[in-house]
Formats: sequence, structure tokens, C-alpha cells
Amino acid sequence: MLDQEATTGAPQAAAQTLDLDLAAAGVAGVTIVWADNNGIPRSRTVPVDQFGAAAARGVGVTPLFAVFDSHDTITFDHPPLATPSGDIRLVPVTDRLVHLAGQPSFAWVPGRQVAADGSPWPYDQRGALERQVARAAALGLELRAGYEIEFHLSAAGDDAPDPRPVYAGPSYGPTKLLAVDAFSGQLLRDLHRNGVPVGQFHGEYGPGQYELNIAPADPVTAADRQLLTRQTIHAAARAHGLRASFAPLVTPGHVGNGWHLHTSIARDGEHLLSGGDGPAGLTADGAAYIAGLLRDLPAIVAVTAPSLSSLQRLRPGYWSGAYTCWGVENREAALRLVPSTALLGPAHANVELKPSDAAANPYLALAVVIAAGLAGIEDGLTLPDPVQEDPGTWNDLRRAEHGVHRLPTTVQQQLTALLDNPRVRAALGEELTDAFRAVRASDAARAADLDPADVVRSYRWLY
Ligand code: GLU
Ligand code: MG
Repeated sequence: MLDQEATTGAPQAAAQTLDLDLAAAGVAGVTIVWADNNGIPRSRTVPVDQFGAAAARGVGVTPLFAVFDSHDTITFDHPPLATPSGDIRLVPVTDRLVHLAGQPSFAWVPGRQVAADGSPWPYDQRGALERQVARAAALGLELRAGYEIEFHLSAAGDDAPDPRPVYAGPSYGPTKLLAVDAFSGQLLRDLHRNGVPVGQFHGEYGPGQYELNIAPADPVTAADRQLLTRQTIHAAARAHGLRASFAPLVTPGHVGNGWHLHTSIARDGEHLLSGGDGPAGLTADGAAYIAGLLRDLPAIVAVTAPSLSSLQRLRPGYWSGAYTCWGVENREAALRLVPSTALLGPAHANVELKPSDAAANPYLALAVVIAAGLAGIEDGLTLPDPVQEDPGTWNDLRRAEHGVHRLPTTVQQQLTALLDNPRVRAALGEELTDAFRAVRASDAARAADLDPADVVRSYRWLY
């Protein structure tokens, strides 16, 4: 990893030094990446001799990326962004620059979007997360986050209607990694060299499905790494004749790809999800954090699993968290508390959000999770008893008695949950909330006449 000083506003000499350092390392171009409101990475690449200038002033991009839908249609249904006029600046976050191990001619850097005059741009997703991190800090609270990334591998060039999984052997078996041995080795090496710490890598449950867990970090770093990890997986897959799909559902009827989002929270170094008197060792504030997530879950999931492919993934019985409940190590609960134990220590405790996937913008997903959790603490919420069974096996009456509901199953239900929720809206800001709404509505209109299997296929290669 190349560590460069932030050079925004730096004199030209510093900009030239940055370019020369990169060129000496063999970099030909620097790709500046952000994720849009569909969770799709978008980018601009500058040749290496232009990077110093780009670092100082950003590169120009259309403001309309905020209203690109999942299939690159620009919706003009959000009045402030309803014309093709205007320009914003995409500014690389230079201290996050990485010389890509799997693409040695390129460096990668996350970008922040600012207005043409350099002032904050209300649609900048990374900025929305930075605001929530700052809000937590003002309350004396600190969060850690980590993404799990499930993905599907098939042979590149397999244009069968549903791509054949690269391997269909036993779930979690070592032969599943052996089947993609060269890819796996390169992937782990490249992630290490790209500065992404990995917890585990394994063959997952579904045919051709694999999973990689990124170690926890501060929230903005966790989201940056989630984007970098996608790029690293795609590069390693292509190098070995494979194609990776991160889609929430790759093949109708199969298990989906969850990108479960783990968070933990601490005050002055004291972990709030362990060492307390509450269930599974929760402190009162730790319980309130989870209660905040539970209260706002339908609106959160409208952001963390927002696509039509996401909606088809969220089914009872698939460990994707289709019901609004929390449980201790319950893999059917939308919120799974992973408690600490004497063996694992207090820092291990975290809460996993299962209805979260690659269609989520990683910054917005964390922003709304943190906003809801902080609100739970501020409001002193208490948690209901954990659900330790599969609520999908209960009847409606029993679910109602436990306050357990199916998460929204349609775009309209998701949007209603989002727009009716003042905390989640505030976390996004009014402009971004309405742009997000417009994009979701555009996706839904496109899918209106497609059958569900074709909808799933149309999302397969987007992320
Ligand atoms: N593949 C499941 C999902 O869609 C998750 C399986 C697991 O818990 O690892 O979220
Ligand atoms: Mg998994």
C-alpha cells in the first residue's frame, strides 16, 4: 500500500511529487471509486501524471449519478436533479490510496463528492457516514464495523441462462477451495497486499458460493474496504478465468449472497455489547443500541437490502433474516447478537444485520445502522426478549404476540417504511432520501412487466 499525505489544496510541487512516486511504482492510472445509490461502484480513472492535480481539485462528474438506477437509466423524478446541466467534483481520499496487487498498472482510491466550489454535496454517501461517526464521537461513542461478503463463482464466458457454479461439492468442504485453488491463493495474497485484513475465507453453503469476512475497523474504513474487496475479488476471478457475482440472488430459488453487516459499540474503550447485566451480557446502552436497530429495521433494510434482487433473497428459512426480531446466535433473526465469551473476550461481541447485501451502498448502510442505534441509546430503549427459534415456523398469531413481522416484500412497502421513518431519513438527509426514493421507484417501474426470475437475472452482474 502506498501511503500518501492528503494533498487537497497542496502546492503544485507536492502534486508532482505524488505523480512521480506513483509512476516510479509502475502505476499508469489511478481509479477513483465511489458507490452509487444502487450499491454499484462507479469510477473515473486519471493517468498517473494527472493524479496530483486530481487530488488537489477533484475531477468533474455529473451530479446525475445520484439518480442513476440499477440499470443505468437516469431518472428525472427527483426535482433538484431533473436536468442534464451541472457538474460536481470527485475528490480522491488520497490517504486511502492503494496500488492494486491484482492490477499492477493501477492504483485505487475512494472518492468523496463535493460541489463544484468544494463545499459539501448533500448526495455524497461517504459524507453521510462521516456525519454519523462524528455524531457518535460527540456522544463519546465509538463504533467498529465489518462486512461479510458472500459471492458466487462461475466460469467466465458461461452465458447459459443461469451460470453454472464453478463447483457443486459439499458445502464448506476444503475441496470447494481446491476447485478454485489458484484464484483463492491470489485473492488472499492480493487482499493482504491491498491492506484488507481478512478474518476467514471459505466455501459457503450454495453451489459455487464462497465467503470472505473482512476484519472489523472504524466504519468509514470498513466501507472503503468493502469497495476495495469487490475490486480485488473481481480482478483475481478474471485472472483465473472466473466471473464473480455479488448479486443478492444469483439464481432464482438458490440461497442468496448476504453481505452481513457486523457492528459493535464502545464508550471510553468499554464495550457496550458485553460485560453487562442484560441478556447475553448486554449493558443497558448495548441493549438500547440493538433496540434502536430493531425499532427502525424496516427502514434500515430499505437501505441495506434495497434492490428487487434483495427482496427475492429475503425469504424465511434461508438465514437471510426475513423477520423483525433479534436473537442470541439465532441465524434466522434479522439481528443476530454474537456475544462475547470468556474464551473470545469482550471485544468479540457484535450485532450482525443479516438483511444486508451488495445492492446496499456500504456507506449509507452503515450510516443508517449507526443512526438508528444511536437513537436507541439516546431514547433509552429496552429490548424485548430474544427470539431463539425460527419465527418462520410460527403462525401469524404467535409472531404478532412476539412483535415479530415479515420485513417489507415490495418496493412500495420498503419506501413507505423509509419515508415514514424520521431517524433514517435524517441520516440520509432530505435530498439524498428523495433521490434514493426516485431510484428505487425507477427500478420498480422497469421490473413491473418482468417475471421474478428475469428480474433476478437482470441484477446478476451489476456489483
Ligand atoms: N447466504 C445467507 C444469506 O443470504 C447467509 C448464510 C450465512 O448465515 O452465512 O444471507
Ligand atoms: Mg455466510
